[in-house]
Amino acid sequence: MNIANIEQLMFVGMDYQSYFLLKEGFKPVIRVATSKELIEEFKKICKNLGLSVLVKEFSEIYGTKLEKASFNAYISNSKESAEEAYEVERGGDRKTFGKLLGYPACCVDKFIENLKSPVDYTIQTFLNTKTNPSFYCNFIFNFDSKLDDGGIKIYQENYRIFNKTKLYFLIRHMSCSFDCKKSIEIGKKTLEILNREMPQLAESIVHALKRPVLYLDYFNWLVFNGEINGNELVYKEVLLYDSLFPKEKLELIKRGNVVKVFDEKIQVLKDENILLEIPKKDRYKGVLIDFI
Ligand SMILES: [Zn+2]
Repeated sequence: MNIANIEQLMFVGMDYQSYFLLKEGFKPVIRVATSKELIEEFKKICKNLGLSVLVKEFSEIYGTKLEKASFNAYISNSKESAEEAYEVERGGDRKTFGKLLGYPACCVDKFIENLKSPVDYTIQTFLNTKTNPSFYCNFIFNFDSKLDDGGIKIYQENYRIFNKTKLYFLIRHMSCSFDCKKSIEIGKKTLEILNREMPQLAESIVHALKRPVLYLDYFNWLVFNGEINGNELVYKEVLLYDSLFPKEKLELIKRGNVVKVFDEKIQVLKDENILLEIPKKDRYKGVLIDFI
């Protein structure tokens, strides 16, 4: 595989993971939001990679009128699949569209159900996890389909921060639980291909994902080198996967070695001494997730 060619993918907003899954027949279609200015470039790159692409303008999607018309690119190994994906999305059929993207039905169903709830998707997935959270399902660095208009604004304003971690995922979708078997299968397949095609990237992805996390919300998390036991995390260091977590609090946490999570607060300690207490707005605004 010529990496220089697929570097171009990043330029038009595709990711390696999706590309490899598509190429190897594990994902029927990729959909990428694009802009009018990039359409020709997009078509050229896809042609070079032997892919079919269909770019279509949308002024309304899933019943929501868009402030500004947007362009979606449907990329596939066949022209027919790209066209089918466009028709399905235009018709607003999320379930079939999710299937065309190669996502498990259990996760698509859960996603549709969660749309009605105001609760953060990551927390919904966390609450739906019955056994150990799997690092294959760790999607905290991936913002796809999570954000509303307000969230998108925050993301764009802080793009430089989130851009650094945007490649760290093994599933492109939000799984229904962090132990969803079908999602783990996809994650394993993705890692297997990356190990072969881009071993350095594969290694840095696992380094980022297979970690204990203190998760507060989409934009606030901390990734640790440490071990979770119930509601307590004992850690050696905070790893540099930046979020919008306040810097002054982060500095204190770097000096500690224990995080305790209660329903109403988060406590950070150095051995027995409390360094910091963070009150929680609700019990789910600050949970420990042990991705193993
Ligand atoms: Zn699932």
